[in-house]
Amino acid sequence: MSETKSWPALSIAEAHAILTAPGARFEVEEVVIRGVPARVFKNAPPTLRHVFETARGFGADRTFIVYEDERASYDAFARATLAIAADLTARGVKKGDRVAIAMRNLPEWVASFHAGLMLGAVMTPLNAWWTGAELAYGLRDSGARIAILDHERYERLAGVLGDCPALEHAYVARAPEGFAGGTGVSTLEALTGTVAQWPHLPQRPTPTVPLHPDDGAAICYTSGTTGQPKGALLTHRNITCNIMSGALNLARRYLRRGEEPPAPDPAKPRCTLLVVPLFHVTGLSSNLGPLMVAGGKLVLMHRWDAGKALRIIEAERVTATGGVPTIAWQLIEHPDRPNHDLSSLEAVSYGGAPSAPELVRLIAEVFPSAAPGNAWGMTETSATFTGHNGEDYERRPWSCGVANPTGEVKVIDPASAWPEPASGMALPVGEVGELCAKGPQVVAGYWNKPDATAAAFHEGWVRTGDLATIDAEGFVTIIDRAKDMLIRGGENIYCVEVENVLYEHPAVMDAALIGRPHRTLGEEPAAVVALKPGASATEAELRALVAGRLAAFKVPVEVLFWPQMLPRNANGKILKSELKQLFQPAKANA
Ligand code: AMP
Repeated sequence: MSETKSWPALSIAEAHAILTAPGARFEVEEVVIRGVPARVFKNAPPTLRHVFETARGFGADRTFIVYEDERASYDAFARATLAIAADLTARGVKKGDRVAIAMRNLPEWVASFHAGLMLGAVMTPLNAWWTGAELAYGLRDSGARIAILDHERYERLAGVLGDCPALEHAYVARAPEGFAGGTGVSTLEALTGTVAQWPHLPQRPTPTVPLHPDDGAAICYTSGTTGQPKGALLTHRNITCNIMSGALNLARRYLRRGEEPPAPDPAKPRCTLLVVPLFHVTGLSSNLGPLMVAGGKLVLMHRWDAGKALRIIEAERVTATGGVPTIAWQLIEHPDRPNHDLSSLEAVSYGGAPSAPELVRLIAEVFPSAAPGNAWGMTETSATFTGHNGEDYERRPWSCGVANPTGEVKVIDPASAWPEPASGMALPVGEVGELCAKGPQVVAGYWNKPDATAAAFHEGWVRTGDLATIDAEGFVTIIDRAKDMLIRGGENIYCVEVENVLYEHPAVMDAALIGRPHRTLGEEPAAVVALKPGASATEAELRALVAGRLAAFKVPVEVLFWPQMLPRNANGKILKSELKQLFQPAKANA
C-alpha cells in the first residue's frame, strides 16, 4: 500500500465521477425502466444468462462450488444446470413461469436457479426454515408450476403439496435410497446424478429464449405489516446491478486512498465462504453473481458452525465472508480463532441488520488483512444499495455507506404518503426521516399485490420503513425502524405475523412481540401477553402454539404476562418501546 498523505484523496463525488466516466469500467448510461428514466451501469451483464455463460467459460479446471467434501468445477456446474434446464423445457416451462426452490445451501440450489433463469422462468426461492404450511403458501402465492426441493423440505411439504393447485411437478434432491417419489415427483439425481457425477453429464447448448434485462428473474419473499409474506419481483437487471456495485465499492476505496484501483485479475480467483442463505437477496444477488463473473470459489456449509467456518477459511484460503454482523461476532469470539491462519481474508463485510460500531474496530484488530465492510439493502432493493468498506467504514463505523452512482437516497417525513411528487419531499441533511431509495436495483413490485406495491413504490422510488439520516457526503446511517419488525441474526421477523398466532389462543386478549436485545444476534423475539379475565395459558403453551405454525426462528424465546391491556398511545398503538424495557439483554452467545 502506498503512503497517503491526507485521507481521503478524493471526495465521494470525485471518486464516482472518475469511476463512471465514459469508457471506464463502471460507465453509467441512462435507460428507461418501467417508464422511469434511470442511470444504469453500461457494462453490467444484461441478464443472468450472460452471467452463466461467463461462468461456464471458466471451465473444468476452476472450482466453483465446495460443499462439505463435494466439489464442482465451473464446467461440472454448467453441465448440471443445462441438464436441469433441458428437463424443465421438456416439461413445457416457458418464460415467465414460476419455478420454486426450497433447499438448504446446496450445489443443486445454484444449478437449479440458473437452469430456470436461462429459460426466462421466474425463480422463486423459498425460505428453507419455513414450516410446511409456510412453504405451501409460497408455492400457492407464486403459482409455481415446478418445485425443486431437497428431501428435508419435501418431507415438510409432503402432506400439503396437494394444496398447491398450480404445481405440476416436484424434483427432490438428496432423497434417501429407495425413495419412491410417486405421481408428479421425481428425483433431481435422475437428471444430473450426484455432484461427483456432474462432470460426466453431456455438454449442451445454452437455451436461446429471448431475454430482456427488465424481465422477471426471481420472486423473493419478505414479510410485511399485514403479516402475510409478500413476493418481491426481482428482474435480471436488479440482480446484475449488484455485480457492478460491489466491485465499484472496492474500487472507490482505492481512489479515496489516492491509489489506482487494481484491474480484476481472473488468474487470482477469490473465495467466498457463504454463510447466509442463498434464498435471501444477500446470497443470491450480492454474492452469487459477482463471484460467478470473477470465476471465484463459493464455499457452502451444511449448517453454520463458527469453529468449522474457521477451519474452512484456513483450508480453502477464503478471501471474503460475513453476510450479517452475527457471523462476524461469532468468528471473532470463537476460542479456536487464534489457532487458525486466517490471513487469506481480504474482506469481512455484512449488512442486513444493525451492527455495533465496536465491531469495525474488532475486525481491524483480529483480521488485520481484511477490510471491514457494511452495506445496507433490503429484499425490495435486491440486496446491497448503499455500502462502504475499509477506511471509509473505519472512520464512520455507525454508517452503512453511500449509494452507488446509479442510485439515489433521500429521507422523507415518515408520516407523508405517496403519491406526492417523488422528486420533492426530501428532508434536509442530517434530519431523521424514512429512507427512500431509487435505482436499477429497486424491484419491479410485489407479486400479485397491487395495493402493497402502490404503497411502497412510486416513480422508481421505494419507501424502506427504515429511519435514517444522510450526511452532506451522502453517507447513510440507519437510526431505527419505522416498520414493526425485529431482526434476529439477520433474519427478519414481522411482529404482526407472530402476534396473529398468539391471538389464536382463546385465552389471549392482547399480545405484542418485542425485540429482546442480544449482543451477537442483535435481537431475538420475546412476547408480552395479556390474558382474558379468568382465562389461563402458560408460557410453554404459547411458545408451542407459535412453533406449530411458524418457523422456529420466529418463536418467542420468552413470554411475559401483563396484568391488563398492554399500554397504548393516543392512536391505540401498543407502546412497544415501553414494553422493551421489561426484557434484560440475554447473555452473549446465549
Ligand atoms: P431484508 O428485506 O430481509 O433484506 O431486510 C431488510 C432490512 O434489514 C432493512 O430494511 C433494514 O431494516 C435492515 N438492514 C439491512 N441492512 C442494514 C444495515 N447495514 N444496517 C442496519 N440495518 C440494516
